[in-house]
Amino acid sequence: MPLSDIQSRISKEETRVGRTAGSTHLIAVSKVQPLDRVVAVLDQGYRIFGENKVQEAAGKWPDLKSKYDDIELHLIGPLQTNKARQAMGLFDVIHTVDRPKLAKTIARIAQEEGHCPRLMIQVNTGEEDQKAGVLPADVDAFVAECRDLGLPVEGLMCIPPADEEPSLHFALLAKMARRNDLPELSMGMSSDFERAIAQGATYVRVGSAIFGERDYS
Ligand SMILES: *Cc1c(COP(=O)(O)O)cnc(C)c1O
Repeated sequence: MPLSDIQSRISKEETRVGRTAGSTHLIAVSKVQPLDRVVAVLDQGYRIFGENKVQEAAGKWPDLKSKYDDIELHLIGPLQTNKARQAMGLFDVIHTVDRPKLAKTIARIAQEEGHCPRLMIQVNTGEEDQKAGVLPADVDAFVAECRDLGLPVEGLMCIPPADEEPSLHFALLAKMARRNDLPELSMGMSSDFERAIAQGATYVRVGSAIFGERDYS
């Protein structure tokens, strides 16, 4: 589906639910996609992209950043502490801060480098064993801990369980963000971004609906 179609679906949903036009940012999730599809979207003038692996992003984006101005890059996948420095140099926003050790590492590197990306905390709203993220019961304490470390935490992010109605998880995430005075909400993907907008998403992460199915073979 062309990017412009996704953008108009976003606008329509903002209007339908009475939100300010343009209050939802679209992250074009380019992971695994062939380079020509990514370049096509850059050539249309689009500049906000998401990747879920530091290594893959490092192999692709430095070159693209040298060719296209004003790219805004979002890390939406898990971050290992030993890749934190590299990620902090490459990404403008990290959505997946999810444990004290990582928060402390980011804070230390931010001190050393004099620079920190904008940050969001990933919440495991479905309390799934295999999924990353802070448990809902631990969110308030972890937000406070990040603030004590001086980290620029702006919002919360979630990936709802595949087999549950995502709106319930989006609503829960919005409630946790509200009570912690966090303005940003990263939630919603190709199959459910309109429902995320209805619950207050400020960043939706859309991959396959823009670029086509990912080929992992
Ligand atoms: C891959 C991915 C997306 C995009 O998924 P689509 O279903 O292709 O839109 C969104 N968020 C995260 C965290 C992802 O890893």
